[in-house]
Amino acid sequence: MPVIALIEHDGITVKKSSYELVSYAARWAAQSGDHAIAVVLGSLSDHGELASHGAAKIVHIADSALDHVDPRQYVSALRAVMQEHGAEHVVLAHSSTGKSISGILTVASDAALIHGINALPADGVFRRGAYSGKALAYYRPEAGPLVITLMGNSVPAEKQDAAGEVINMSPDLPAAQLTRVEVKKVDGDIPLPEASKVVSAGRGMKDPDNWGIIEELAAELQAATACSRPVADTGWRPHHEHVGQTGVAIRPNLYIAIGISGAIQHLAGVNNSKTIVVINKDPEAPFFKAADYGVVGDLFDVVPSLTQAIKDYRQS
Ligand SMILES: Cc1cc2nc3c(=O)[nH]c(=O)nc-3n(C[C@H](O)[C@H](O)[C@H](O)COP(=O)(O)OP(=O)(O)OC[C@H]3O[C@@H](n4cnc5c(N)ncnc54)[C@H](O)[C@@H]3O)c2cc1C
Repeated sequence: MPVIALIEHDGITVKKSSYELVSYAARWAAQSGDHAIAVVLGSLSDHGELASHGAAKIVHIADSALDHVDPRQYVSALRAVMQEHGAEHVVLAHSSTGKSISGILTVASDAALIHGINALPADGVFRRGAYSGKALAYYRPEAGPLVITLMGNSVPAEKQDAAGEVINMSPDLPAAQLTRVEVKKVDGDIPLPEASKVVSAGRGMKDPDNWGIIEELAAELQAATACSRPVADTGWRPHHEHVGQTGVAIRPNLYIAIGISGAIQHLAGVNNSKTIVVINKDPEAPFFKAADYGVVGDLFDVVPSLTQAIKDYRQS
């Protein structure tokens, strides 16, 4: 059976996480000699590199009603593609879109559902994190349809050439049950959940006016910026930057924690990062236990030196 990957986009470009999805779908489908179908809903002028990431087919339902996510309409569109192309399995991003439609799609498809997958299936067994990333859980679905959500940055968006045949569909859709009133876009070039590198700072920064050194380091690394909860709560940084148990959960390739103690609630949102670097003047700071690399020192010395060292390295 082909595997469907639901592509997320902003109307102009395909999100990086969707290349991971389609690449995952292609590799999963290949395990049973089948192919991946990338499903694009709403207006998108350029399908980007979906074909070179493994999409044998790109099914596009360009109905402008799908420019915004209405879960019932999205599920109806996906069901139409599943039926038309004989697909049972669907990979969604573990994003607000993926999570908002996964339950309805599962019921409508009489499928099994696994949230937060972080590896390709091996011998039919799927893996996800559990207990805030401190454990791994394994699932073997019974035969039949399966819907999964895939954690961002957990599998590489591997290049794998496929036909990328574009097929336009225009199924009947139910009326929308939601009207999007307004979207206020957050500042910043790199959205935090999408970022592969994150520079994050906490109360050790002492004052919001000191954030220039964090932004400079982030710019040098082309990283997103993040912060601990008290920093957002006191208004030093915007709330969308707050990571942790009650904030955004991220899993970048590189997480640099500066002047953050490493409380369990903070770690819950970042401890799936591939490499963690901690800069703290207190050698006993709990964060060092979760760190791959640690620098004990005053952040106001260490951070500018690190930024300069990266600049020098680039120029050498
Ligand atoms: C229910 C609940 C949910 C929570 N959810 C979250 C969450 O989602 N995310 C989150 O972050 N927190 C969360 N918290 C708060 C969490 O418990 C901690 O209080 C918080 O993470 C601490 O933030 P911090 O590390 O920035 O500050 P602090 O704990 O004050 O640590 C500051 C660190 O900076 C270091 N430092 C100070 N000066 C310097 C310097 N000059 N150079 C280098 N290092 C320096 C200090 O040694 C210290 O380790 C939650 C708490 C509760 C109760």
